[in-house]
Amino acid sequence: MTIMSKVAKNSPIPNWQQELSAAYSNPAELLAYLGLHVDDMSLFHEAAEKFPLLVTHSYAQRMKKSSWSDPLLRQVLPHPDELLSSPAYLSDPVGDGLASVSPGLLHKYHGRALLIATGACAIHCRYCFRREFPYSNNSANRSQLTSIKQYLAANNEINEIILSGGDPLTLGDSKFSHLFDALSNIEQIERIRIHTRLPIVLPSRINTLLLSTLRASNKKVVMVIHANHANELSDEVADVLLKLKDHGVTLLNQTVLLKGINDDLDSLEQLSLRLFNCHTLPYYLHVLDKVAGAMHFDKNEEDSLKLYEKLQQRLPGYLVPKLVREESGKPYKTLLAHSPQNH
Ligand code: SF4
Repeated sequence: MTIMSKVAKNSPIPNWQQELSAAYSNPAELLAYLGLHVDDMSLFHEAAEKFPLLVTHSYAQRMKKSSWSDPLLRQVLPHPDELLSSPAYLSDPVGDGLASVSPGLLHKYHGRALLIATGACAIHCRYCFRREFPYSNNSANRSQLTSIKQYLAANNEINEIILSGGDPLTLGDSKFSHLFDALSNIEQIERIRIHTRLPIVLPSRINTLLLSTLRASNKKVVMVIHANHANELSDEVADVLLKLKDHGVTLLNQTVLLKGINDDLDSLEQLSLRLFNCHTLPYYLHVLDKVAGAMHFDKNEEDSLKLYEKLQQRLPGYLVPKLVREESGKPYKTLLAHSPQNH
C-alpha cells in the first residue's frame, strides 16, 4: 500500500497537511520507490545530515523510475557532490543577513520588503540559497507583526510585500489567512507577492479557503511559482494554476539554471512553452546563487550566455525570461543579458 493510499484510508477527506507529513525524508525510501539502488548510502546520508531530504509523494510520482538523471530527482536527492567545498560558495551568498531590518523582515530593494513567513518548505531543493538561513530567530511570527508594521510605516515608500521563507504556503490555513489579511489591511501596500513551490510540489494546498483568502484581498496579488523543468508541470498543477488565475492572481515563474537539470536548450524551451500553457509567464532565469553545497549545479557564465542566446532565437520575446544574478549588497538584480523585444 502506498503512503498516499494509507492517507486516504485513515481519513475520508485527505488534506494537504496530511500529504505533507507523509513526504519522503529518507533517501533510501525514495530510491526504493524509484527502483534505484546503491550499495553504499553513507555519503548520501552524510549529505542529508547537512540538509535533509524532503519531497512530497505528488512530486516524486512525476519522476521517471530507474533513472538517476531524472531532472526532478536531481533537484531533491542529497548527493555526495554536496560535500565538495570551495571558498567561493558561501552560507549566505545573496546577503540576506545584511538586509535584515527586523526579525523576519528583509529590505533589499527600493519599494519592496521581504517577509520570512516561515522556515518550513514542502520540498528541500538542493540548490536552495537559504539552506543555512537562521530561520529560528528570523521568521515573522504573530508577535513580530507589530514591529514589521512599524518598520513599514517608517518607510512609506515600500508598497510591495514579498512573502517568502521557507515557503509561505506551508503555513496552516488560518495562520496564512491571518497574515495575509493583516498585510491586506496596510494601506501603503499595493501589491502582495507570494514566492512558493507549493502549487508545483503539493497542488492540493491550493484549496478553497486559500483561494477565497487571495480573492478577498483588496491588493494586487502576484504569485511566483519557481518551476525549473517542464516535467514538474503536471495536469494537476495546470489545474490549480488555472484556479489561481481565475481568482485574480497574476502568475509568474522564476527558474534557477541548474547544470545537469535544465541547462540545455530543449529543457528551457519546453519549460517556457509549458508555463505559458499553464497561464504563467517566465520572469527570471537565475544563475545559481553560490551557496555552499551546490557548486556541482553551477554552470559557467560564458556557457550560460551562449545557451541564453540560443533560447532567444527559439522563443517569442514574451516567453524568454530575463537572465539575472543576485549579488550581495546590490540594490537590484544584475541583468546578464537583455531579453529580446517581443517579436
Ligand atoms: S522551496 Fe524555496 S526555500 Fe524551500 S528549499 Fe526549495 S528553494 Fe529553498
